[in-house]
Amino acid sequence: MTNPVIIVGAGLSGLRAASLLTAQGIKCRVLEARDRIGGRVLSASDPNRPDLGRFDLGPTWFWPQHESHIASLIEELNLETIVQYKKGDILIERFQIKPPERCELKESSDEKWLRIAGGVQSLVDAVAATIPSEVIELETRVEKIQLDEAGDITVETELSNGKREKVQADGVILALPPRLVAQHIEFSPSLPPELIVDIENKPTWMAGQAKVVAVYDRPFWREAGLSGYVLSAVGPLEEIYDASPTNGSGALFGFFGMPSEARNRLGEDEVLNLVVNQLGKLFGNEAKNIEAILYKDWASDSETAVAEDFSPLKNYQNYGQPPIKGVWERKLVFAGTETDPQYSGHLEGALQSAEQAVSKIINLYNKL
Ligand SMILES: Cc1cc2nc3c(=O)[nH]c(=O)nc-3n(C[C@H](O)[C@H](O)[C@H](O)COP(=O)(O)OP(=O)(O)OC[C@H]3O[C@@H](n4cnc5c(N)ncnc54)[C@H](O)[C@@H]3O)c2cc1C
Repeated sequence: MTNPVIIVGAGLSGLRAASLLTAQGIKCRVLEARDRIGGRVLSASDPNRPDLGRFDLGPTWFWPQHESHIASLIEELNLETIVQYKKGDILIERFQIKPPERCELKESSDEKWLRIAGGVQSLVDAVAATIPSEVIELETRVEKIQLDEAGDITVETELSNGKREKVQADGVILALPPRLVAQHIEFSPSLPPELIVDIENKPTWMAGQAKVVAVYDRPFWREAGLSGYVLSAVGPLEEIYDASPTNGSGALFGFFGMPSEARNRLGEDEVLNLVVNQLGKLFGNEAKNIEAILYKDWASDSETAVAEDFSPLKNYQNYGQPPIKGVWERKLVFAGTETDPQYSGHLEGALQSAEQAVSKIINLYNKL
């Protein structure tokens, strides 16, 4: 084998695959369209207030009692975790014109929700640190993958300066959402029609969502016996959680009930006005004294979402490995959370699919 394995996408799945291949002494290159690693993992700080810390605008939690691969990786990488704060009451907002109801939050003792100190980005950075830095190529968008009659693969990329490059590969791991494979990458010869239908029908997990984090000087709601946990039928946020770091400042984050079309129509400023008003109604005027507010609308990010992802997810039937038959069967391997049959959508699925992809690649190599 002379050419590297090309991994498309430097999300958690692609990075984990690169780390495992590197550990096995197999040459690989990770080609990433964005100017950063992590994909849907994004832990951001306010550029004007970096002192406040980093907050998750993508994934937040893992559940160690069910998700053994992420739990052991976090232990192996020696990362600090934070138990999700859930002490105190929950607020339930049923009607626009009525104050929220306050109820006791019964904590299940065996269900542990863990966050990662510094955000999930700490996990991505730690995995990336196990890979030689030259292996990861940012701002390198894969546009075409070609297989010739001799069985050689050429991957065509576009760089941020518009330059196009061709890379030879012995195998390709597609570690990006299947819908992006279907809509953004051209294959020659074409992928089989049943494979295209399958990947078109794998919605990208959370791609239609947006997340907002409001940062405060302290978690003041805890002083009033509130957990920070809210369920709302009113919106714009439908679920709110305590996202406070361990440095003393406080933070609340929310998922939107407002669909992506409405967020798009209103624009970021108006959406954030509505968020601040909702927080004020729920937690009192102190909730309007925000030190920083961070917002990420995943639906308007073409490196994650396609138009079909804008509507809320209705079924999760089609996750798991796509059926590859024909000439591509021994050349292409799917990874990425949507291709994991059991933990699809989660960080755990991203990791398990990477492990599966690497063992398939090793298997293919051993047969050559
Ligand atoms: C708001 C939100 C909340 C979430 N909450 C949780 C949670 O609490 N717990 C949990 O377990 N999971 C959660 N998730 C899901 C979790 O983020 C994903 O399961 C995981 O990050 C997916 O990783 P991945 O590597 O499979 O895909 P991605 O992270 O999507 O990585 C794919 C990569 O491919 C790149 N790419 C795309 N097109 C190209 C191209 N043509 N060429 C090169 N590169 C390309 C992308 O830029 C990206 O970096 C959440 C997701 C979101 C958005």
